[in-house]
Amino acid sequence: MSGAVKLYNFWFLVGSQHLYGEETLRQVNAHAAEMVGGLNESGSLPCAVVFKPVLTTPDAITGVIREANNDPSCAGVITWMHTFSPSKMWIAGLSILNKPYCHLHTQFNRNIPDAQIDMDFMNLNQSAHGDREHGFIGARMRLPRKIIVGYWRDEAVVKQIASWMRSAVGAAFSRGLKVVRFGDNMRQVAVTEGDKVEAQIRLGWQVNTWPVGDLAGEMSKVAEGDIDALISEYGKRYSAPSFESPPIRYQAREEIAIRRMLDSEGARAFTNTFEDLHGMEQLPGLASQDLMGLGYGYGGEGDWKTAAMVAIVKAMTEGMPGGSSFMEDYTYDLTPGNELSLGAHMLEVCPSIAADRPRVEVHPLGIGGRNPPARLVFEGRAGQAVAASLVDMGGRTRLIVSEAEAVKPIYRMPNLPVARVMWRSLPSFEEAAKCWILAGGAHHTVFSYDADAVMLEDWADIMGVEFVRIGRGTTYESLKKELFMADLAWKLRA
Ligand code: MN
Repeated sequence: MSGAVKLYNFWFLVGSQHLYGEETLRQVNAHAAEMVGGLNESGSLPCAVVFKPVLTTPDAITGVIREANNDPSCAGVITWMHTFSPSKMWIAGLSILNKPYCHLHTQFNRNIPDAQIDMDFMNLNQSAHGDREHGFIGARMRLPRKIIVGYWRDEAVVKQIASWMRSAVGAAFSRGLKVVRFGDNMRQVAVTEGDKVEAQIRLGWQVNTWPVGDLAGEMSKVAEGDIDALISEYGKRYSAPSFESPPIRYQAREEIAIRRMLDSEGARAFTNTFEDLHGMEQLPGLASQDLMGLGYGYGGEGDWKTAAMVAIVKAMTEGMPGGSSFMEDYTYDLTPGNELSLGAHMLEVCPSIAADRPRVEVHPLGIGGRNPPARLVFEGRAGQAVAASLVDMGGRTRLIVSEAEAVKPIYRMPNLPVARVMWRSLPSFEEAAKCWILAGGAHHTVFSYDADAVMLEDWADIMGVEFVRIGRGTTYESLKKELFMADLAWKLRA
């Protein structure tokens, strides 16, 4: 399940024109190659940057963009105008560009060489000038694009490129994502519904249903030896008094069968619901948790949008240390001035966000009418995090991201038989919850310590999804106006 990020690269497109003569163009090429080398050697980028020879004609620009469009390993293009590149030359190419687009506004030299600067130097080092011409055509063509400004060797600039690369990888992953639904959504629930056709047109997701009976059939084919092998994997990752209990073996059987069905469909996310477990003795708990830990997306109660978002966030943050999980806002601790949310789910929280080694425990489940399932129990780690919810507004989707500060749970909660996470919402409990409810954010989220609001906003911009951030500096009054204006704007756009 790993390696998705490294499969991709980004093309560095440098524009110029023939006016400057061969010597200047030779220098532009040499500088661009040095910058690509420097960026790749920084060690801070998740994907490689690929140098492309300087572009000086409309045909060359259109040609390279056509190649980028057709290369499945190219996840986006980064443009920079070392000299002046008249932007009408870019119209044909940019009008067919179907990859994420970043305009890096930088310059080759950090400082102006006081004693040496002359008109030749100025003509070569004029991105302050050329990038404005390039920016205009992006604005004039209404192209969604990421703009990064600063000196290319600076860590802050490289970090922004790295983050945007991950957003772009998330976009590529999204466009190929298949979600398997075992059964339908939980009856009567609104927020887990949505337009699957619109989701496929806009986001690329193929969301289809498989009968739970097929899964039960697949489970009956799982060999005891395969269960033994998975149990020994559990032993490496988790602790338990004994792994040889029937409920743990049953979860292993479920996990193997679910994974086989997902892999045979090429699917990277799935849903199920406690209301539809025909032929199954336990709701998958440990099974779903371990699959999330391996990188699969999951959504409870048929929540295919959150399942897809969990998979996408896991793919875009691959290799990062924090972890990401399916999550649900459950209950609050309302101490004045220190209000905290307690997040959990019936069972399914991903072990990637555990502070310590998760324990396998078996407890009865008061819902669904099946046998007590094995599940992983742990505390989530402390740290900066976001909770993200994609909702269907009718005609468009809206991604709502709430910034949070996860804390070590302030209570032991010895009788709570599920994994739990505690966090403080920003800017405050009251403001954050009011804004979340106003915007229509769900009770289900993807909770990530690796993705931040900027990474998710860039992904939303690439996908053409409305984005709402709730965090530092957010006020209810300004958000109310923002949502009102956005509603008008999105209606005009559609
Ligand atoms: Mn739920």
